[in-house]
Amino acid sequence: MRTVLLGAPGSGKGTQGVVLSKKFNIPQISTGDLLRAAVKAGTELGKQAKSAMDAGALVSDDIVIGLIRERLSEEDALDGYILDGFPRNIAQAEALDSMLEQLGQPLQGVVLLDVPFEELMQRLTGRRTCKDCGAIYNIHLSPPKKEGQCDSCGGELFQRADDNEETIGNRLKVYEEQTAPLIGYYQRQHKLHAIPGTGDIDEITNAVGAVFDTI
Ligand code: AMP
Repeated sequence: MRTVLLGAPGSGKGTQGVVLSKKFNIPQISTGDLLRAAVKAGTELGKQAKSAMDAGALVSDDIVIGLIRERLSEEDALDGYILDGFPRNIAQAEALDSMLEQLGQPLQGVVLLDVPFEELMQRLTGRRTCKDCGAIYNIHLSPPKKEGQCDSCGGELFQRADDNEETIGNRLKVYEEQTAPLIGYYQRQHKLHAIPGTGDIDEITNAVGAVFDTI
């Protein structure tokens, strides 16, 4: 099952990706996670990506397309995957299509998590992530039972460096200008499924899962 989760920053792609990856036993592949790992490891690629990430801008297409090409060739991705945060503009979507076309394995479905713009800021400023298992909480909307600690594994929760108000504003602008046009792009391919991304997290998972079951 070759799928993409599409949506604005804070729309729940990461949260849903973690759960759906377990449910369908396919990897969640997040370019944001791959880039953050490269920055943390201090690799050359990480150094090149860091300033764009800190500013809430997009990292160059060459870098992220290269990362995706490598990651999709790993064995655990052979039976499918959930792409999270990639593609992020039309050039990346076209590169992905041609990469998958060469393999004879086109994308099967794209799920748009649709969240009103006003809600995204609150979600992003309140977001906290477990450093061990990647589970995502929100101090306003879905807090952990114990402050600063992951309910599922006990790991420490941290706030992403780019989840500050200034950077968030820029990331939302970049989404509107560069990523939102992908909605039309995938509609034209008859691959887009829009799901309301608000309300109960489990219900959203079920709605996305129901789409995945049909593709
Ligand atoms: P995310 O975790 O998906 O919100 O991504 C965090 C940051 O990583 C973004 O604000 C970008 O700077 C960078 N990034 C992640 N995915 C991409 C992508 N597909 N293209 C360009 N930059 C990306």
